[in-house]
Amino acid sequence: MALGKSARKEFPIFSRKVNSRRLVYLDNAATSQKPQCVLDAMSDYYKRHNGNPGRGVHTLTAEAGEEYEKAREETARFIGAKPNEIVFTCNTTESINLLSYVLPAEISHGPILLSKMEHHSNFVPWQQMSARTGRKLAFVPFDVTKPITAKNLEKINSQITPSLLTIAHASNVLGTINDVEEMARFAHENWKCPVVVDAAQSAPHMKIDVRKMNCDFLAFSGHKMLGPTGVGVLYMADGLMERLPPFMTGGGQIGRVDDTASTWADGPAKFEAGTPDVAAAVGLAEAMRYIRKIGIDKIHAHEKKLVKKTLDMLHGIDGIEVYGLPSERGRVGVISFNVNGLHAHDVGTILDRHGVEVRAGHHCAQPLMRQLNVVSTARASFYLYNDMDDITALEEGLREVKKIFSV
Ligand code: PMP
Repeated sequence: MALGKSARKEFPIFSRKVNSRRLVYLDNAATSQKPQCVLDAMSDYYKRHNGNPGRGVHTLTAEAGEEYEKAREETARFIGAKPNEIVFTCNTTESINLLSYVLPAEISHGPILLSKMEHHSNFVPWQQMSARTGRKLAFVPFDVTKPITAKNLEKINSQITPSLLTIAHASNVLGTINDVEEMARFAHENWKCPVVVDAAQSAPHMKIDVRKMNCDFLAFSGHKMLGPTGVGVLYMADGLMERLPPFMTGGGQIGRVDDTASTWADGPAKFEAGTPDVAAAVGLAEAMRYIRKIGIDKIHAHEKKLVKKTLDMLHGIDGIEVYGLPSERGRVGVISFNVNGLHAHDVGTILDRHGVEVRAGHHCAQPLMRQLNVVSTARASFYLYNDMDDITALEEGLREVKKIFSV
C-alpha cells in the first residue's frame, strides 16, 4: 500500500479540482479525507446489515451488534487496549465532556491541571467542570519551542496537588508531541491522580500503546484518521468504568429500570446511551485496518519528511514566522506560520485560489494564541497522501501571496 501521490488514487475526493487547480489538501489536522474502502464499508453496512444493535432477537439486530463489536475490537487493537475499555462517542469533544461530568464523583477536590496548549475541547469542558464543582484550574507552564514533559510538572509540584492531569499528546497548532508517558508516571507517583490524554492529533499519525503510556483515559476522533465523522473514542483503563457513574442515561445503557431508580449495564454500554452510529464505527474500523496495513510508523516517518521539507521551504522565504519546535524532531505533521504583516485569513484565501487548502484562524486554541502573542496563524497539516509536490504547491501559493500583498 502506498503513500503520497499513489495513495491519493484510493481517495475519490482527489479526483476533483478546487478553483480549477489540483486539490492540495493540507488541512488534515481539521479532518482527513476518506479512502474508497471506508466509504464502501459504510455503504455495505447499510445495504446488508442495518439494524438497531443489541435491541432484539432478529437477524439484522444481531448482525448490527456484531459489526459494532467488531469495530470495538479493531479500535482496541489499534491502541493496545482491551475491547471492554473502549467507549464509542461522537468525537474527542464528547469524550472529554463525558469525563468532565463523570469524574467529579471519583477524584479529589484538588485543582484540574491542564496546559494552555490545549484545543478548546480539552479546555472549556474543564472550565465548566470547575464552575460546577468549585475545583480550581491550574496551568502547566511551558515554552512554545519545547515539548511539555515531566520536568514542567516538577516545577509546580511543590505548589499544587492536582485532582486530575489532562493534556494533549500532540498540539493541533504547533504539532509538538508532548511526553505524556513521563507525565502520566509523574502524576501517578506524586499526585495519585488520573491522567486524561487528548490524542486527537496523535492517534491518526503515530503508534499509541495505552499500556505503555499508562494513561487512565484517552480520547480521539474517527474523522481525523480516515474514518467518518460521527464516531469518537474514549479509552477508559480497566476497572474505571465500574467506578464511574454514567454521563447520559436512557436506552441501551441500563441494567434494570424500576419506577423510581435504575441500575446500569456493565462495560462500555453504560456510557453509550441511545442508538449508536454503527455505520460510522464500521467505517472507523475499516480506516484503522487501512492504516495498520500501511504501518503507522511508516506514516509518521513519511509525515516527518514532509515537515522537514516544509520547514526548510518556509525558512527560505523572507518574512515568514514559524511557530513551535525548531525542526521536524518531536513533531507530528502540523506547522503553524504567519506571513508578517498579513492576517492568516488573507494567506488562506489566496492559497485556496491555488487549490491549496490550509486552515487559517485561532484553531480553537485561543489561550495558546495569546501565549504566542498572535490572533491567528495559517496551518499546514499532512497525512499519508501528501507528498513533496504538495509542498511545492504551497510554496508557489505563498510566493503569490507575498506578490499580491507586496510584503
Ligand atoms: N483536541 C485536539 C488536539 C484537536 O485537534 C481537536 C480537533 N481539532 C479536538 C480535540 C476536537 O476534535 P473533535 O472536533 O473531533 O471533537
